[in-house]
Amino acid sequence: MALLILGKSECPLCAQVIASGQETVATTHFIQFQAHPLWRFSDSTMHYACFQQWSQRAEFVALYNSTIGQIVWGNGTRHQMAADGVIQSVPDSGAQERAAALNTLNRRRTPLLPKR
Ligand SMILES: [Zn+2]
Repeated sequence: MALLILGKSECPLCAQVIASGQETVATTHFIQFQAHPLWRFSDSTMHYACFQQWSQRAEFVALYNSTIGQIVWGNGTRHQMAADGVIQSVPDSGAQERAAALNTLNRRRTPLLPKR
């Protein structure tokens, strides 16, 4: 997650210092390619209000969700960014399908086990 020093770190969108009590949008470093036009925003903290008015907001959100948002964490959730930049932990629907498929496989295997 981006390093934020309240009263010192600047919002990359407006170049103003982020003060205590201001709502923010922050991400981890998720754009590896330095020449990408959104690279410098991928490990930063921005004012929530600035983020809402940012012309590249939709592209940034889509890029986040197509990279970090696709990772299924150990607890079976993914981190999804909403249109306003808020990141939420959501259950991975694919995880439930995989678990159900595995259950089906295990049930099918049971009759093949040697009887004791
Ligand atoms: Zn700002």
